[in-house]
Amino acid sequence: MMNTTNSIGGAVILLAALGLNGMAQPDPNWVDHDRQRPMAAAIDPGLPSTQDQVGKAPSDAVVLFDGTDVSKWVSMDGSPTKWIAKDGYMACVPGSGYVRTLQNFGDCQLHVEWAAPTPPEGKSQGRGNSGVFLGMDRYEIQVLDSYNSKTYADGAAGSVYGQYPPLVNATRPPGQWQTYDILYTAPRFDPAGKLLSPARVTVFHNGVLIQNNVELTGPTGWLDRAAYQPHPEKQPICLQDHGNPVRYRNIWVRELGQPAHHKEFTLADAILDSYIGKYEIGRNNNAEILKENGQLILIFQGHRFVLFAETPTKFFAKSTDVQCDFKTEGDARLLFISVGEDGGMKATKIK
Ligand code: MG
Repeated sequence: MMNTTNSIGGAVILLAALGLNGMAQPDPNWVDHDRQRPMAAAIDPGLPSTQDQVGKAPSDAVVLFDGTDVSKWVSMDGSPTKWIAKDGYMACVPGSGYVRTLQNFGDCQLHVEWAAPTPPEGKSQGRGNSGVFLGMDRYEIQVLDSYNSKTYADGAAGSVYGQYPPLVNATRPPGQWQTYDILYTAPRFDPAGKLLSPARVTVFHNGVLIQNNVELTGPTGWLDRAAYQPHPEKQPICLQDHGNPVRYRNIWVRELGQPAHHKEFTLADAILDSYIGKYEIGRNNNAEILKENGQLILIFQGHRFVLFAETPTKFFAKSTDVQCDFKTEGDARLLFISVGEDGGMKATKIK
């Protein structure tokens, strides 16, 4: 909120930020009932699922699993997942590891449907355990068969694991389809890696509010209260392999906030590794591609650019309008670097 000031100019600015009744404007760019203000985009809201009928995602959602196609999901290292898709669902294959989305998401609305194995086996944390993770494998919303089953409160279905029990236990019996509707706000870090704002989640379980905009203390974990470590705002969404064949269906996500100029993906390590090396642009002019914390870095003209993948061969920086395109011609590995409107400089990988 603006400070009051003695100057006339300041008073005018202050008045401009006040609307009817002298109340602060919700958005200072618009006056109340502004006829120039654009209306929200119209979308098809889709349909909710029933036990027998799979619903339809809103028209502006990214569908992550439609009942048959698992191509949006990979193993953590980016290789194809061993989780299976059949009869309209995707199931964890115990021992095969977590799965993650190829695409990265920051603030989002995430819809997930899951069913615990039936007949139920095991007890407490060994009964229908999986999990929906935001921020790669950092922040878990617990998936567990908590129907008539006792476990520790902050590990029950719908808990923010190890931090917040659900407000109520809205679990359906094993075998029945259940929904999670998750609102995720990614944590923010300053360029030096200092936490600016923590991750927050709101969760509805089978339509019932069970987490109300809680602030995470850091990554979730067993016997572990870890501190935040800086990470890019957009990260894959993960599903946990905790040794139980939990099923999933009808998974979709809506990105929130300003529309992004680029989609972002976390590519397989094998692809990223193939780009690492020194590149020659001309005599006495080089570029270098490094990998740090799983991300490619371009060293160019004495500058360092963190690169984000838009496709398997096309990358961009966020701090500056720099794009990198990797190509192969014969046995030559090429890198085209373009800055702003520039057409691009061709660099050849040094063998
Ligand atoms: Mg779990």
